[in-house]
Amino acid sequence: MINVNEPCKNPLNPNCPNEDIVVYIQIGQERYPICCQCWAELAESNAEWNETGLKTEEKQCLTTQD
Ligand SMILES: [Zn+2]
Repeated sequence: MINVNEPCKNPLNPNCPNEDIVVYIQIGQERYPICCQCWAELAESNAEWNETGLKTEEKQCLTTQD
């Protein structure tokens, strides 16, 4: 865990009050601190980010069953 005194700035959840920042994501010139919970959600959401922005895809249901 990264010890910082700032709240989560998840672009997908701007009002997130959590401060248990575990990672930063770089979008353009900005670094966004992301809390543990939001990071889990981002990782699950197939969101992608780069210099130009953040994009998300709808969750894909991977429940194919034979
Ligand atoms: Zn958060």
